[in-house]
Amino acid sequence: MILEEVRRIEADGTERTTSVRIGSDMSPNVDGRGLLVLPGLIDLHAHLREPGYEESETVATGARAALRGGFTTVCAMANTMPAIDSPGLVAELAARGRDARAARVLPVAAITRGREGKQLADLVELAAAGAVAFSDDGDPVDDARLFRSALEYAHAARRPVMEHVQDRALSGRGVMHEGAVSAALGLPGIPAAAEESAVARDIAIAKLTGARLHLQHVSTAGALELVRHAKADGISVTCEVTPHHLALTDEWVGGSRAFVWEPMRGASPPQTPQKVEDDPQTPRGVPYDSATKVNPPLRTAADVRALWRGLADGTVDAIATDHAPHASFRKDVEYAEAAFGISGIETALAVLLMAVDAGMGELGAVVRALTSGPARVLDMRGPDDLIVVDPALEWTVTAGALASKGKNTPLLGRRLRGKVIAAVVEGEVRYRDETAMQGRAGPPGRIKGAEAIARR
Ligand SMILES: [Zn+2]
Repeated sequence: MILEEVRRIEADGTERTTSVRIGSDMSPNVDGRGLLVLPGLIDLHAHLREPGYEESETVATGARAALRGGFTTVCAMANTMPAIDSPGLVAELAARGRDARAARVLPVAAITRGREGKQLADLVELAAAGAVAFSDDGDPVDDARLFRSALEYAHAARRPVMEHVQDRALSGRGVMHEGAVSAALGLPGIPAAAEESAVARDIAIAKLTGARLHLQHVSTAGALELVRHAKADGISVTCEVTPHHLALTDEWVGGSRAFVWEPMRGASPPQTPQKVEDDPQTPRGVPYDSATKVNPPLRTAADVRALWRGLADGTVDAIATDHAPHASFRKDVEYAEAAFGISGIETALAVLLMAVDAGMGELGAVVRALTSGPARVLDMRGPDDLIVVDPALEWTVTAGALASKGKNTPLLGRRLRGKVIAAVVEGEVRYRDETAMQGRAGPPGRIKGAEAIARR
């Protein structure tokens, strides 16, 4: 199939109008006006939950969900049960990814055995088995001396260490961002300093070792400022931010469902919890909805704006989803007891396109952070994958609309604009939204009715 007159954006953010071949089938040309063709997106941070938590996600369901979100490559985190800390488990994860024939799955192996933060895993062997990076994500390596060794071995294995930056002595039993909203809701907070002090420590150790350090889901203005200075000093540090930290604020825990660029609306007072209405016109949330519980927590509007500035000036290398699907029994409990995480791989691109529309940032910068940026973090050549996006297509986020087993998103009931309608991985069309593709048959400039008359 050939898409004619389509807007094509490259991994460096440049764009042109052109014809693009999608897959190898010889079906008729399609009018591509109004569509976007992007390189396949690369997600540095997703939880596919297998082995051990198959009720929340499997490699197959996660890799399919990824494709529907436009991610043709996903890095699978190691916090499974057992943790991915042996060459055999790395190879098994990679094999399951290949069998799924959806998004390409790249294994990230654990830094420490069992992710216990006590003893280093054999990083050189894990890299040889196919691990593209190391992370104990969810659990930072608290012991600075052990973290130094991890960076030294990872450096020898020519792989980055991806660290969840959080000082757990400071975050304690916090469940949301510490500030005015947590005080009003009476929930224990996680201060910005818990992230910023950990970022400072990790940057100092990266400087000491000369190894490649990648900071996961950076969420505060102060943390980003530290990264900016470290980069200016020539330290080998990269970082990612998530779509939810680029769009939502801690007000969401109090019931707001307004993106940071929208006026506040629909927030109901904390004392009147009610069922979430599935009404796309007036998205309304309830306070203490555990779908908003995520680590690091949703921060303030000022932090969100600082992340967008970091994206614009190159301080932020990548946008990674931190897709964290959970079975309902882990979320349908008291806020304090609920698991951390948002299922976000299928909504990420739409939210980012809407943010760009609202003037939060440039489309080119967003595309770079989803393609060439993460490729650089992994020190790999970006694959030749392609995705086709209809930026005007509106859809409602419902449990049924998500391919992921994780329905835990505070966007449930929200109307989003922008949808992936095809994804090509390794030259093969592995996802195609038939409904959206229909009605587009026929090259531009020709009226389908007139063509039918001419054929008679
Ligand atoms: Zn994390």
